[in-house]
Amino acid sequence: MLRPGDTIGILGGGQLARMLCLAAAPLGLRCHVYAPEADGPAFDVCAERTVAAYDDEAALGRFAASVGVVTYEFENVPAETAAFLSARVPVRPDPAALARTQDRFVEKSFLRDLGLEVPGFEKVDSLAELESAVARLGRPAVLKTRRFGYDGKGQAMIREGTDPADAWAAVGKHPSILEAFVPFVREVSVVAARSLDGTVAEFDLCENMHRDHILAETIVPAAVRPETATAALAAAEKIAVALGYVGVLAVEMFIVEDGAGERVLINEIAPRVHNSGHWTIEGARTSQFAQHIRAVAGWPLGSPERLGRIRMLNLVGRDADAWPEIAADPRAHLHLYGKGEPRRGRKMGHVTHVDKD
Ligand code: AMP
Repeated sequence: MLRPGDTIGILGGGQLARMLCLAAAPLGLRCHVYAPEADGPAFDVCAERTVAAYDDEAALGRFAASVGVVTYEFENVPAETAAFLSARVPVRPDPAALARTQDRFVEKSFLRDLGLEVPGFEKVDSLAELESAVARLGRPAVLKTRRFGYDGKGQAMIREGTDPADAWAAVGKHPSILEAFVPFVREVSVVAARSLDGTVAEFDLCENMHRDHILAETIVPAAVRPETATAALAAAEKIAVALGYVGVLAVEMFIVEDGAGERVLINEIAPRVHNSGHWTIEGARTSQFAQHIRAVAGWPLGSPERLGRIRMLNLVGRDADAWPEIAADPRAHLHLYGKGEPRRGRKMGHVTHVDKD
């Protein structure tokens, strides 16, 4: 168990790392941020910094020696980096969880083997395999690269009339999976924490709206039946337990409606704090960032109790230009990540509204 004054190492210097640092401070814990880019938003608020590549073993060695535990803000931490660090210092969540979630085929197979419902999927390593997968799964279907996809990058829809060769070229002919298109009525997520002693605490089910594949808005609680929310939370807990997970993870899901009612299909696991959990900073008794810090430090979790009805809006690109008006609304909780250029599609900040239930 880390003690006040101890240091947590964080791989990645983006807004998630920034909010982790901000959550560690009130607990008396320091953060050492390690990232290859010198201008990461986390560098404004951390106690120690290393700007170095993820394969710089000298820098990684010094980093490991300076911290009591290492965690990360993104799932694409190279396996070699995670292995190098975990030989020297506890890495939480365990790098095995990364290995399970970095590759969509491995991830979907893991979920299916757990008995959870996932969209139909097939492994695709060539155009010929894509053509036969389309024949089996039907159209529409979504082709996704197995690795390094996020916010809809590395994806191509195969509709009636789409030439599979065009979709195959669109994903760069990288190893991929083809997924049956899910006619979902809502997208939801569960943000859950699991402590070192195995206690699980879950926030209420989040409902997410995307624009251009980027999260635009989260509403909590999600407008689903109580038994659907219970099933979604149970699925996330099952995943956290099966991974032996320590820290916060998010599970993104689709809700489909059929004659029998609502069904939950798992889309993907994010082994980290998640954008759909940003509302917890003001909207829950303990934020997802504080939960993650507590978990990786070996501390007990706080209460995930929700404090009201939640609406969280992402400020993407030029949305952030509205900061003066948002700042003038005394009930709006404005967060700006300290990024420079409001480039198109770049997450610049978010704003949370918490209303009495
Ligand atoms: P992903 O990168 O897998 O989270 O996908 C990004 C977004 O694409 C999701 O949030 C959905 O809106 C959409 N999407 C992904 N997979 C499917 C699918 N199998 N069926 C329908 N929509 C999907």
